[in-house]
Amino acid sequence: MEVSFSKEIESLRLGAGDTFHGEGILAITKALLQSGVAYIGGYQGAPVSHLLDVMVQARPYMDELGVHVEACSNEASAAAMLGASIHYPLRGAVTWKSIVGTNVAADALSNLSSPGVTGGALIVVGEDYGEGASVIQERTHAFALKSSMCLLDPRPDLEVMTRMVEQGFCLSEASNMPTILELRIRACHVRGSFAARDNRPPAISTRALMENPAVFDYMRLAHPPVTFRHEKLKTEQRIPAARRYIVENKLNELFAGRHDDLGVIVQGGLYNALVRSLQQLGLADAFGDTEIPLLVLNVTYPLVPEQVADFCAGKRAVLVVEEGQPEFIEQEIATLLRRRDLQTKLHGKDLLPSGGEYTVEVLATGLTQFAASYLPGPATEDARRWLAGNQERRQAAAAVLEQPLPARPPGFCIGCPERPVFSALKLAQQQIGNVHIAADIGCHAFGTFEPFSMGHSILGYGMSLASRAGVSPMMQRRTLAIMGDGGFWHNGLLTGVQSALFNGDDAVLLIFKNGYTSATGTQEILSTPDEGAKSRASDKGRSLAHTNQTIEAALKGLGVQWLRTVHTYEVGKVRATLIDAFTSEFNGLKVIVAEGECQLERQRRLKPWLASLLHKGERVVRVKYGVDEDVCNGDHACIRLSGCPTLTLKDNPDPLKVDPVATVIDGCVGCGLCGENAHAATLCPSFYRAEVVQNPRWHERLLHTFRSAIVRALQPA
Ligand code: SF4
Ligand code: SF4
Repeated sequence: MEVSFSKEIESLRLGAGDTFHGEGILAITKALLQSGVAYIGGYQGAPVSHLLDVMVQARPYMDELGVHVEACSNEASAAAMLGASIHYPLRGAVTWKSIVGTNVAADALSNLSSPGVTGGALIVVGEDYGEGASVIQERTHAFALKSSMCLLDPRPDLEVMTRMVEQGFCLSEASNMPTILELRIRACHVRGSFAARDNRPPAISTRALMENPAVFDYMRLAHPPVTFRHEKLKTEQRIPAARRYIVENKLNELFAGRHDDLGVIVQGGLYNALVRSLQQLGLADAFGDTEIPLLVLNVTYPLVPEQVADFCAGKRAVLVVEEGQPEFIEQEIATLLRRRDLQTKLHGKDLLPSGGEYTVEVLATGLTQFAASYLPGPATEDARRWLAGNQERRQAAAAVLEQPLPARPPGFCIGCPERPVFSALKLAQQQIGNVHIAADIGCHAFGTFEPFSMGHSILGYGMSLASRAGVSPMMQRRTLAIMGDGGFWHNGLLTGVQSALFNGDDAVLLIFKNGYTSATGTQEILSTPDEGAKSRASDKGRSLAHTNQTIEAALKGLGVQWLRTVHTYEVGKVRATLIDAFTSEFNGLKVIVAEGECQLERQRRLKPWLASLLHKGERVVRVKYGVDEDVCNGDHACIRLSGCPTLTLKDNPDPLKVDPVATVIDGCVGCGLCGENAHAATLCPSFYRAEVVQNPRWHERLLHTFRSAIVRALQPA
């Protein structure tokens, strides 16, 4: 991992008397250390990658504190790590992206929740829901309910968020339930400050080891017959204990307001958006002073029935603001109101949408309807005017544009090593016909966008090979599964490769070996080349070919017999290898390992190195590609085959031609794909390769002067 988090690591060292300033997710990281956490693990993924990335780089400081940090191979291994807190009074925290990561971790979480924990177990999940999310839209709440884990959804304020970390551990210990700390995207990125406290080295740690293991206790195993007792303990002891702790320590917050015959019950994470929307109705100010009483649920599971009932009693109506579906909280409140025969009218999903993010505008629309029923008057009119004004501005902006703005889907980085393989696949399919492509999670999923539009399904991280198992036997042509090296180690090796080999499946698997889990922030993996390999590769300017054979060795070890390694940028060879795999006589799993280092990571390494050479006055050569505009025939086949953002269009300089010509703009990293595609697809010969020499040697300057003079002489006066 090349990005340096040295500043962040410094802020982890703050102590009593200091003020922490920064982003929510870093504040959570600091709060873990203040809470005496003994071990930390996880699997990276937005929006919580930062937590683990910082902790991994801060290992020397963690060693000082005696805290163990583990970059786990997937979320299941992270969740299983919490098993340390079953017997031992160790506080442990793990992190991942949810809902997908929680799905992967579900088995271990069930087996952890059943016996319960002794030491506090905190699961920091990045709730990737709403605008900006990158995964399927589901709620972690369902997992908390089914496995009886406490669920915190803190108000996005650094003081509250960091308090909830400490309280989360205490709540877990008081109830024996693992606790999930749900951080929405906006909460992770909210900025603010809080009064730091000293970090607490854990009592049992890597520096203060336990002498003996715990005594054998069958009750700590998730195995019948004790699982029947565990199920009863959840409702008889653990949930009541959690509720007591929530009330005694005021984990949920009550905000009074002058309209005390009304109320809003809101998930803590939505508090900021709610207050901003109340402002549009004139029912709150910018500092959060509200006119409608609020019950802010920093703990969304378990609810405390008495607390909710007390809040609702005597009110004409209460609105539940709960993002996503199903409306677990609203349903539970409806039940408890009915059981207590409280006649308070309950609103929620009747006024607010069942799915999608609750932005300020969405909330203001629902609140306007609520206010229209119970607070008719200027508040409703103000909000209606504001909402109508937003619509008018949108329509005015649309009217200025003659046609809607084109969509701008994300795509591969400039010079990405994965783009050429999709070019080769496009060319291969022209020859063998279209194939079923099982896509996967990772940067290669950008291949599902234009100009490639390849991939029939995505079933999860590392799941592509497994996901074609039902398709292959039904298809005349072989199927293709695409997987990254990140996905291979996360899940694909066992879920896909082992299963395909065991069942003797006839399929093709293409593994992108770019050296990192690039899509989550270029974290290192088992097959990341070592530092020596990196520096050797840097001046060759190509990939890290054959520097780490872990993937190939694992495949051979499992018994893969048809295995080819290709260089991603060699489009012609990749095409030939794909065709070979699809037409080979060999009946079984065929694996193509496509090597080419992540360009983002390569540039991060190369740029400072080149800058240092220039600084020292040393000669530096950069490769650039270009298009001869006189030769370009304007059919743009090169663009349809590449999609590189720096290969684009410009007006045709020939006044007699109307079609724009292709051009390579600044930013080209000289990956060579333009030339490879032109050769492999026999495109027009308009591409040229140029070398830009900085700090040239004396004979190069002399040659340049000589050449320039000849060119000038040949040009008409
Ligand atoms: S991060 Fe790396 S692998 Fe991902 S698109 Fe960019 S260059 Fe390609
Ligand atoms: S050589 Fe072509 S594909 Fe590669 S970075 Fe330059 S313009 Fe993009």
